[in-house]
Amino acid sequence: MTAASYAAPSAGSTGTRRLVLATHNEHKVHELRQILGELVHELGLEIVSAAAYPDVPETPETEVTFEGNARLKAVALATATGLPAVADDSGLSVDVLGGSPGVFSARWSGTIAGTDLSRAERDGNNLQLLLDQVEDVADEHRAARFVCAAVLAMPDGRTATAMGHVRGALVRAPRGANGFGYDPVFRPDGDTRTLAEYTDLEKNAISHRGNAFRAMVPILRDHLG
Ligand code: IMP
Repeated sequence: MTAASYAAPSAGSTGTRRLVLATHNEHKVHELRQILGELVHELGLEIVSAAAYPDVPETPETEVTFEGNARLKAVALATATGLPAVADDSGLSVDVLGGSPGVFSARWSGTIAGTDLSRAERDGNNLQLLLDQVEDVADEHRAARFVCAAVLAMPDGRTATAMGHVRGALVRAPRGANGFGYDPVFRPDGDTRTLAEYTDLEKNAISHRGNAFRAMVPILRDHLG
């Protein structure tokens, strides 16, 4: 693939090139900075969140695949800022539910618009509804996986996708205090703990998002190097 160089007129400091991450979640920005650590140094990259561009509206996730939603967000941000942008979209896919909640993971127990529930309250409702739905499902049929699509969009319109997964099973009652979302009910294959019983570092090492962001490294090197 042809390597291309992109000047970033709005870059914070001389000699750095800015990569925008399509999220206002500083936790994700931190995660990406950690995973891209060496590359950031090698390419003189500065990774900033979409919060650095408050005038750019958030893109609604109207597609029906993780990749489609991630592409929508990345392209919109690259177009608005004139900078390379990375977006991710993720969720939980339960085999016996035909892949649901899938792209509806964040809103499985109801639409988000118009509610004043906190993220933690929404996560709790989503998780409880899911547990209720699979209550009668035997242990050997409770397989699930977290999926993450990460998309790089370049200001010239090129896009590239990296996917990440982590396979596991749904437990019967929430366990653990770390993480977020469905972590307390998801036990990765080969372990007895749920993801909510992992440290951040342990989770990043095996997670769908960690895997997708790691798969993004050679893509970024190709496009920005
Ligand atoms: P988003 O990609 O951050 O929009 O995530 C969508 C939804 O998927 C979240 O609201 C969670 O319900 C679920 N989800 C995504 N990643 C994780 C994870 O690492 N742990 C638990 N739940 C997750």
